[in-house]
Amino acid sequence: MLDRALAAALILARLSADIALPFMGGMKPARLFSQPFRAASLREFVMGEHTTISWTGPNGKTFNPWMGCTKVSPACDGCYAEALMDTRYGKVSWGRGEDRKRTAPSNWRQPLRWNRQAAEAGARPFVFCASLADVFDNEVDEVWRHDLFDLIEATPHLVWLLLTKRIGNVLRMTDVMRHGSRARLPANAAVGATMANQEEYDRDRMKLWAVKQDREPLFTFASFEPLLGLVILDRHAPDWIITGGETDQGHHRARPSNPQWFRRLRDQSAELCRVYHHKQNGEWASVSEVEGPGEIFTFPDGRNVRRVGKRKAGRTLDGVTYDGFPTLAVSLKGEGDGRDLC
Ligand code: SF4
Repeated sequence: MLDRALAAALILARLSADIALPFMGGMKPARLFSQPFRAASLREFVMGEHTTISWTGPNGKTFNPWMGCTKVSPACDGCYAEALMDTRYGKVSWGRGEDRKRTAPSNWRQPLRWNRQAAEAGARPFVFCASLADVFDNEVDEVWRHDLFDLIEATPHLVWLLLTKRIGNVLRMTDVMRHGSRARLPANAAVGATMANQEEYDRDRMKLWAVKQDREPLFTFASFEPLLGLVILDRHAPDWIITGGETDQGHHRARPSNPQWFRRLRDQSAELCRVYHHKQNGEWASVSEVEGPGEIFTFPDGRNVRRVGKRKAGRTLDGVTYDGFPTLAVSLKGEGDGRDLC
């Protein structure tokens, strides 16, 4: 168990390219992120030695304790995990009542190795947990989740990103009075919620805020991906704001995001002193940013986007790559908790 008094304090920065260096092994994110994406094997999808997800950082990993899930949000319509592991590879059946599939013990040993490597390098890489499932899925045996929490606690040099579409389950599932000490949220975990539109933000922001107050994760974050509408934030917005457009998955055709929705979240992040990260534009890009052929979609406000494919659409917004990361600094108690953000 990490001593919470010595736990990493959160220091947030709006622009991270330099500030993020302490836990990124001294490598400039801008240069690393310019490396081309490549197709990953099935094994890599599950074992996640390296990940191309920008918000895990250049040394980021993904870890899947199990596979399988049920769709619970409009953001799940184009679930890439289902398209991959159910439709394409037939590894697990998706949906309510279907068995989740725990990954192999050899996979569960990977984070222990990453932790040793991080300790030697003096780094704290991010680990995106459960890209092929949801940690707080009601249909998962709680013993599996407790095993996962034990693993997270055994790897204090890793920063675990627990992103869920079931943020309303987190307090209950991490209640030690109810479920015993193994249910305790590990001190090196950050908790995030996916929020695709204003309705989901309004429904879930206070649930995430309550997790921040009552469980004291390293930090909180929200993934506005796929962003399906304009979202107005408030003072209860999480520490880290991530945006992204949708990509095609199997037969699911990506819905366009209005670049103005991204801009509004970027600008509100600045006003509220939240860290901002724009992951990708999705399959569609503003006609003013990408030239060439492609279907045009016009939003009610008159803005046009063109379907150019995710590679061409890229991840810049108004010509800028927004690579904000929460920065962690090991701190003694009283050195500042990073909560006075402005
Ligand atoms: S919560 Fe995530 S893994 Fe589960 S169905 Fe939705 S998008 Fe897929």
